[in-house]
Amino acid sequence: MSLIVQKFGGTSVGSVDRIEHIAARIGNTRERGDDVVVVVSAMGGETDRLIRLAQGIQEHPDPRELDVLLSTGEQVTIALLAMALQANGCIARSYTGHQVHIRTDSVHTRARIVHIDDQRIRADLEAGRVVVVAGFQGVDEGGNITTLGRGGSDTTAVALAAALGARECQIHTDVDGVYTTDPRVVPEARRLEVLTFEEMLELASLGAKVLQIRSVEFASKYGVPLRVLSSFEDGPGTLIAPDLEDNRMEQPLISGVAFNRDEAKITVMGVQDRPGVAFSILGPVADENIEVDMIVQNTGADGTTDFTFTVHRNDFARTLQIVEERRLQWGASGVTGDDRIVKISLVGVGMRSHAGIASRMFRALAAESINIQMISTSEIKISVVVEEKYLELGVRALHTAFGLDGNVVAGDRSQSPGGSGRRGS
Ligand code: ADP
Ligand code: ASP
Ligand code: MG
Repeated sequence: MSLIVQKFGGTSVGSVDRIEHIAARIGNTRERGDDVVVVVSAMGGETDRLIRLAQGIQEHPDPRELDVLLSTGEQVTIALLAMALQANGCIARSYTGHQVHIRTDSVHTRARIVHIDDQRIRADLEAGRVVVVAGFQGVDEGGNITTLGRGGSDTTAVALAAALGARECQIHTDVDGVYTTDPRVVPEARRLEVLTFEEMLELASLGAKVLQIRSVEFASKYGVPLRVLSSFEDGPGTLIAPDLEDNRMEQPLISGVAFNRDEAKITVMGVQDRPGVAFSILGPVADENIEVDMIVQNTGADGTTDFTFTVHRNDFARTLQIVEERRLQWGASGVTGDDRIVKISLVGVGMRSHAGIASRMFRALAAESINIQMISTSEIKISVVVEEKYLELGVRALHTAFGLDGNVVAGDRSQSPGGSGRRGS
């Protein structure tokens, strides 16, 4: 018998009806002859609700206690699902992260899985049980409950699939696959049939929240085939596959448009342009564990420079404070901040071998009178920072300009200049 790990996200377990519905789907998988380990998230909105409760008491809740609180969301759904499976005649057992030894480091609220002890799960599978594991949570060396960061149930599923040698890790969610962009923003977005780990990693890193970044890293590292599917209807979904060559996939020019609303920008103006400037500004920010994303430095004619960088919006106020406190020591003439910005990115492995993508991107944005504030590029992506109000317009404009809009014949694998090659329905 082969093993499949199936993960169901928050919307998919959002009510007792839905839990019963997925119990029936899991039963079908079993009937087709596969062993199943199931990972579930908390009911949709529950993790947010718990965070709000904590914030009602402490503005910045104690991370250890927050993890104790947040892990309860998933404990509810594992038990309900195990009951629903049993009611369907499927023998099932639920486990918290602690019980199946999902060992993590001790970084509360964004812990990393370091080891999984698969003994107990294997014994249950051998006894013919369906095993239901709480996503998003683990336990550190000291026995403290940890959580894996928002969206972390995806990572639990992939880590279990790797530890158990599963044939496939299926991420069942409220969309039927990975699309050329978020279908909630661009209804014309198309489902992609296949994607490489590299592309998916880039899309996830640049804001496509359909998979947690770490789950893609994990799948890529351990070669776990990953499939994103609908929890509600049958279909092939999107396969995220390890390697281009092996899968004979064409290199799409553009596989998708990702966006990130969580950005904020800070500019330090008129600092002396001398060696060590970047370090003196970003050093204190890094010391506070604040991650810097994009960086731009413009040198003026008078030997001074304006230094602009972006951080997560949650870190905006703190970063601004750090920078303000040191402004005089750098001799800066001023500091400005803006948390009404977003980052829009084009992703595609085919960019490696194509010139002119950036200019086409900039032309499409210019045609909509969207001003570009910052740009960053890599081999397989181009990102721009624009004013928040242009998010939808910008994403749609790029989606159209690069030929990603729907109504193209499914299965057409041609590599037209604007086409992405691989297409879903
Ligand atoms: P779950 O609760 O099942 O983990 P998520 O909300 O985390 O679900 O992820 C699914 C959502 O990801 C979709 O509802 C969709 O709005 C969003 N999304 C963002 N980018 C994409 C994309 N490129 N393809 C598909 N979905 C996307
Ligand atoms: N319940 C957690 C969250 O909302 C984990 C997950 O859903 O993957 O982020
Ligand atoms: Mg998710």
